[in-house]
Amino acid sequence: MRALTWHGTHDVRVDTVDDPEIINPRDAILKITSTAICGSDLHLYDGVIPGVQAGDVLGHEFMGEVVETGKDSTLKKGQRVVVPFTISCGGCFHCKIQQYSCCENSNPVEKQDMSATLYGHPMAGLFGYSHLTGGYSGGQAEYVRVPFSDVGPIVIPDHLEDDKVLFLSDILPTGWMGAENAEIQPDDTVAVWGCGPVGLFAVQSAIVMGAGKVIAIDHYPNRLALAKQMGAEVIDFRKTDVREALMEMSGGIGVDAVIDAVGMEAHGFAPDNILDYAKQTIGIGADRAAALRQALLAVRPGGRVSIPGVYGGMADKFPLGAMMEKALQVRAGQTHVQRYTKPLLEKIEDGTLDTTFLISHRLPLEDAARGYKCFHDEQDEWTKVVLKPGQDMQEKAA
Ligand SMILES: [Zn+2]
Ligand SMILES: [Zn+2]
Repeated sequence: MRALTWHGTHDVRVDTVDDPEIINPRDAILKITSTAICGSDLHLYDGVIPGVQAGDVLGHEFMGEVVETGKDSTLKKGQRVVVPFTISCGGCFHCKIQQYSCCENSNPVEKQDMSATLYGHPMAGLFGYSHLTGGYSGGQAEYVRVPFSDVGPIVIPDHLEDDKVLFLSDILPTGWMGAENAEIQPDDTVAVWGCGPVGLFAVQSAIVMGAGKVIAIDHYPNRLALAKQMGAEVIDFRKTDVREALMEMSGGIGVDAVIDAVGMEAHGFAPDNILDYAKQTIGIGADRAAALRQALLAVRPGGRVSIPGVYGGMADKFPLGAMMEKALQVRAGQTHVQRYTKPLLEKIEDGTLDTTFLISHRLPLEDAARGYKCFHDEQDEWTKVVLKPGQDMQEKAA
């Protein structure tokens, strides 16, 4: 089959690789109909995530048709399903309390050492996201093997087209959990750093949850325009002092909750970020945490801090003092996707949430490498790329 494979920093290619096969009784094989490139795939593309190997098939946001099932899969051939990016067994301590992204059984034992050393405990398995998280082949391909297919995938009703539901695989639940972790109260003022897909869905979710005012921070004009379209007030951090603006916009008290939807590759030319950049570039492992530092200083005393943005290592000059002295609550984590797929599918069906506005480009799988390059180099215009394997279609702007 054809698949998008990683070969090094800024080097991804569509190659011919082996077809996936059923390995365990609970597996299913999908024929992919739609698969997206994620902002966190760009961390792999930039070479800042450890444990990626040449030839790895990327992609953790995908959906498709069930074409083969193991004897213990609950899926049926012909069903259309969206698959969570987190691989979860459904039966361990964490899965039973719906902490699916902490599953103990989905990262194979022989792959657990690296994350156990880095984080104190092994990570769960994730599709297409380095050997740190299991080395599973991803879904930017014609076919994919889905382990624990009786737990993760959600069956999609025929009348909902792919583009409406694809983002249940990651970014919609991730934006939603980002807002939920901010514990939004009615009339709260909430600030969201980063107007990429997760940030935009966090804005949308915060408004649905009853926030009085949502303020979105970025520097790409087109992304800020999308945030405005969602109902946010916006700050361009290249033109405006963010902390001063947030103080003013929150009546001099500071915002009630902050959401960092940026993660480890923050942009910006503040001195702290330039130092982070240098360390990350020479590979001594510092995350670029400029957005999070700013968020911790901007949130009001007693406020809440939510971190859906991806961090992988250590951050220098982390304002621990602000966290303690301002009595902040901080919540973070990979998304417990399986917890949210059903309620969010209902919100898509009843029209509360619409996610199709985000898609700027649809490409055939063969054009995936160009999709990565443009999504990386032209972030203002390329807000979200959806690949359509098996469809010989011309690129068309949404
Ligand atoms: Zn993703
Ligand atoms: Zn589990």
